[in-house]
Amino acid sequence: MFKIPFNKPFLTGNETEYIKDAVNSGKISGDGVFTKKCQDFFERTYGFKKVLLTTSCTDALEMAAILIDIKAGDEVIIPSYTFVSTANAFVLRGAKIIFADSGSQHPNIDANKIESLITNKTKAIVPVHYGGIACDMNKIMELAKKYNLFVIEDAAQAIDGYYNNQALGSIGHLSAFSFHETKNIIAGEGGMLVINDERFIQRAEIIREKGTNRSQFFRGEIDKYGWVDIGSSFLPSEIIAAFLFAQLENIKTIQSKRKKIWSNYYNDLKVLEDYGHIKLPQVSEFSTNNAHLFYILLKSEEERDLLIQWLKKNGIWAVFHYISLHKSSFYLKDNPLVNLTNSENYSSQLLRLPLYYDFSVEDQNYVINKISSFFLDK
Ligand SMILES: *Cc1c(COP(=O)(O)O)cnc(C)c1O
Repeated sequence: MFKIPFNKPFLTGNETEYIKDAVNSGKISGDGVFTKKCQDFFERTYGFKKVLLTTSCTDALEMAAILIDIKAGDEVIIPSYTFVSTANAFVLRGAKIIFADSGSQHPNIDANKIESLITNKTKAIVPVHYGGIACDMNKIMELAKKYNLFVIEDAAQAIDGYYNNQALGSIGHLSAFSFHETKNIIAGEGGMLVINDERFIQRAEIIREKGTNRSQFFRGEIDKYGWVDIGSSFLPSEIIAAFLFAQLENIKTIQSKRKKIWSNYYNDLKVLEDYGHIKLPQVSEFSTNNAHLFYILLKSEEERDLLIQWLKKNGIWAVFHYISLHKSSFYLKDNPLVNLTNSENYSSQLLRLPLYYDFSVEDQNYVINKISSFFLDK
């Protein structure tokens, strides 16, 4: 198979130890000791008002759509260049998705193109912090205020990222994070909903517990619990939370290692940018870089695909992603074809390189050398 995979799930410390503790404690369903420890960590570290662990970021987005009462006919503005879950969560509630283009310098939503898409049916804007790089949140929050809209951050890739001095995920009314094994901090499958607007806290607990007020019951606030709202099973087991907590104890180590790998790519591939072969990622002045992913931009789709083949031949797995959602077969069934040029360009020219915690310097140098020889030895 591949000598260098695209991603490798990693252990940093006590993952299996804590899972053993959870199993031995006799309480392995959700909302036990490890779930609380994880939620407290996030609230304390990033200034989130309230955190609820979920089974995925997709689930957290679905909860957000329920919380803001999305109904048939409501419009939600999201970038076309994103993962399907950003759109699906709202489509499931009957929303009409309005796609916005990416910026010319970065795959993030172009905040300057949002206002012209707002109508009297618009209910929410869902910015996606691509690669953990912040969207222009001041501009987006101003629009939300002016038109009375909700902002839901799809912060799936944005753990430990900052916009100016505010943690990503702490700015919108609601935010969703992912701990899928391809993200910086992992739990296999997992996620969290961040609630920054207090109005949503109580209902979020209910929706996450199958529409019951069981959370209040367990806190002793009510003497019996029952069915009070719609809901589903969105909370993860203690086994997942135990794994996640072990990762959180090592978040600094994980982040500094990823940032080092990211910088190595940037510094060593700079010469190819100077020669005009590729473009390297840009980090806007208002954003930190959480080193979620490293990509290069090729001049054409043909060249990108040739490079993928060349790397594959050398045992390296590099991937592209995000077929622009406005061109997906599902969307085109009921909607006309529109042009979102920047999004389409990222779909055809962006290539993600291997980046994971256990990536050795030797392996990374091997990847860098193979990319260089693709351009320079022909
Ligand atoms: C990974 C990802 C998701 C989905 O996360 P899951 O935890 O797998 O549901 C959603 N949006 C974006 C932008 C992602 O990168």
